[in-house]
Amino acid sequence: TGNVQTTTDKTARLVELDKKHYIHPTTSAKAQATDGSPLIFSSGNGVYATSTDGERYLDGLAMLWNVNLGHGNKELAQAAYDQMMNMAYSSSFKGYSNEPAIELSKKLAEIAPGDLNSVFYTSGGSESNDTAFKLSRFYWELKGKPSKRKIIALNNAYHGVTVAAQTATGIPAFHNFAGSNIGEVYHAKAHLTNCELGDKNDPNYEGSIRGIIEKEGADTIAAVILEPVQGSGGVHIPPEGYIQAVRKLCDEFGILMIADEVICGFGRTGKMFAVDHWDVVPDLMSMAKGISSGYSQLGGVMLRDEIRNTLVQYDGVLSHGFTYSGHPTACAVALKNIEILERDHIIEHVQAMEKVLKDGFRYLEDKHKHVTNTRSLGLLAAIELYEDPETNTLFDDAVQPATVVVDECFDRKLILRTLGSHREIIAIAPPLIINKQEIEEMIGIIDDSITAFVKKLG
Ligand code: PLP
Repeated sequence: TGNVQTTTDKTARLVELDKKHYIHPTTSAKAQATDGSPLIFSSGNGVYATSTDGERYLDGLAMLWNVNLGHGNKELAQAAYDQMMNMAYSSSFKGYSNEPAIELSKKLAEIAPGDLNSVFYTSGGSESNDTAFKLSRFYWELKGKPSKRKIIALNNAYHGVTVAAQTATGIPAFHNFAGSNIGEVYHAKAHLTNCELGDKNDPNYEGSIRGIIEKEGADTIAAVILEPVQGSGGVHIPPEGYIQAVRKLCDEFGILMIADEVICGFGRTGKMFAVDHWDVVPDLMSMAKGISSGYSQLGGVMLRDEIRNTLVQYDGVLSHGFTYSGHPTACAVALKNIEILERDHIIEHVQAMEKVLKDGFRYLEDKHKHVTNTRSLGLLAAIELYEDPETNTLFDDAVQPATVVVDECFDRKLILRTLGSHREIIAIAPPLIINKQEIEEMIGIIDDSITAFVKKLG
């Protein structure tokens, strides 16, 4: 029909322009400029996103683990509209402030763990982590310990791509990109609870956070940064006791603990913040993504009272800040987002939906011999595909099982993402508002897609 023709023409035109003018993040620029044909989204509703050619997809990753309240939320749009009509933007630099930023700061202090009572705003996760590093170092300068500058991060961590955040990011492709690292950042092996508690007989001891602290000297180290659940590194949930062990270790050596809650925060794991699962209060906490469900570009770093009280004793200017720090419209959206999280009991809903997801995982594991290591904390989840889970044997690298299955899912209108150095992991993190029926739809598509993959294996 004429309609279809128009839609197709429109999409074709956009694809050509996209190839010519748009350099995409985390994409092969060459492939995209030559035969790349991006899926161009034009609308969304709940857990579904629709492309310019009218195809509807189930968004199994909440886009980039961020659209937590789902697409097309009118209340969030209204909050942005109202604030924009009053005053879309005003500065928070010296002498100025705005109502949404102030109210959001108060709200964040209420919901954040322990005495994380003040916030420095950014526009996203990378800026938040760069800010956390600078504030950690500045704190130690103010404490008369300027030699405490080094940062310890974990292997496989993802902390973003600004130059300092990129350095802390441990995933090799991102860490190495364009040779752009700062000095004084070290990487430790993740999740070695025994080592962090002091077990020197463990063969991994040297590579642990504790091992690095002992080698470099605590008087040279400003902070340890970690994701409570590693996201882009493969959805790795720490063993019980690990986060507490890192907290204890940081206390023992007088090192600041930075929790990167950029993915985990605001209900994603079935608690307001993931550190709440283990009753740990970090010294600094980075946030972004779910703070606004992606409806506005907002991030921030929360500080414990000790750090805040040290900063406010300094007579000089805190020479750090972004044009969009405390952006009124972004903050108004975040305030509404948190209001809805609480009002609609989204976190309890996440806990209930995790059970449904786990049932689905059990079904997949029982039915398909290649499915293994299924895991979730709230609605932050993953499954893995092994040649033989019993003997822990991966597929040949050429197989890329998760890539094949995710492509099969895409053909069946479900968006997921592959992770892991052997492309063996499938990440699953739908909008938090997903319901039972939609989770079952998702599991059904994964089931069919694995069947198709196995068929292709021959
Ligand atoms: N930290 C974590 C844990 C992330 O997952 C991300 C992004 O995925 C970032 C930081 C970087 O955030 P942004 O892309 O907003 O700069």
